[in-house]
Amino acid sequence: MTTPAPLLARKTWSRFPETLAAPTLADECRALLTQQRAAWPQAGEGYASLESARVKRLQCDGYDVFLQFNPKRIVSTGAKVDPGSIRERRCFLCLEHLPDPQMGILYEERFLILCNPAPIFRQHFTITGITHTPQSLDGQIGVMLRLARDLAPGCAVFYNGPRCGASAPDHMHFQASPINAIPVEIDAADGRRRRLRMSVENVPVSTMERYGREAFVLESGEADTLEHALTRLIAAMRSAGGSTEEPMMNVIAGWHEERWQVIVFPRRKHRPAVYFKEGDEKILISPAAVDIGGLIVTPVQKDFERVDAATVASIFREVSVTANDVEHILSLI
Ligand SMILES: [Zn+2]
Repeated sequence: MTTPAPLLARKTWSRFPETLAAPTLADECRALLTQQRAAWPQAGEGYASLESARVKRLQCDGYDVFLQFNPKRIVSTGAKVDPGSIRERRCFLCLEHLPDPQMGILYEERFLILCNPAPIFRQHFTITGITHTPQSLDGQIGVMLRLARDLAPGCAVFYNGPRCGASAPDHMHFQASPINAIPVEIDAADGRRRRLRMSVENVPVSTMERYGREAFVLESGEADTLEHALTRLIAAMRSAGGSTEEPMMNVIAGWHEERWQVIVFPRRKHRPAVYFKEGDEKILISPAAVDIGGLIVTPVQKDFERVDAATVASIFREVSVTANDVEHILSLI
């Protein structure tokens, strides 16, 4: 499906890099956010309510996480993502369904950087494909890396797999958050917390130590070699999972001091068993990149108050692949 040019033109606030008013893409995104907060009541209210969001820190064994009480995220956390429900609902990322005041920055003529009206961060963007094509990282690693570089030093980019946290698994999109706002970005940059495991295409591949969930960390300043290394890692994850589909994963890519840091969380499950319980036992936590990265969103106040370090550790154990799986994946690269 192609997007009609007049619709795209109406939704385009500016184009990167041709018509940027601000000196950098990060500045342009901030300017867009200011404009959208003023012109679009839903965005204005979403960012205003985030200012009063409660956050608390939990000390787990070897790592800390933050809980954020954020009632507006119920739409995403509670989203039905099964194929039947997805078929029946109207796609909220398609350009023709965006609210009238919503506009974005056109990137490489095929993505639109939009303000997320239910933010987790003071700056939270959804970077949506301009056509309705399924969520998949296949063929999109290059653009993810370029986005991370072009959005620095303001933002990092993240990707949720279609079976692993994307609330629109049928429409290709990334998201962007302020750089280092997801705790794992800082944790992974600390060499004492990483263990170098191997080198792929001259790109060092590390794992996180005592982190409660498994993660790969890749660093490079060379886009092509990093893309090849990530492609090989993802292929190994797919083989290890014994499936032809994209392996379940969340990816966070940031650009620091002329190099990318890419963190890949290999997953075995999207939502934990407690998510599906009834009544008092139910805990509405639906881990995607931000949550598994250490900033856990709880839209329900009762959950925010009662979730403790042991609950977090148990959810991470349940949705992450195991240490043995990581060894298997490394052996297949
Ligand atoms: Zn769509």
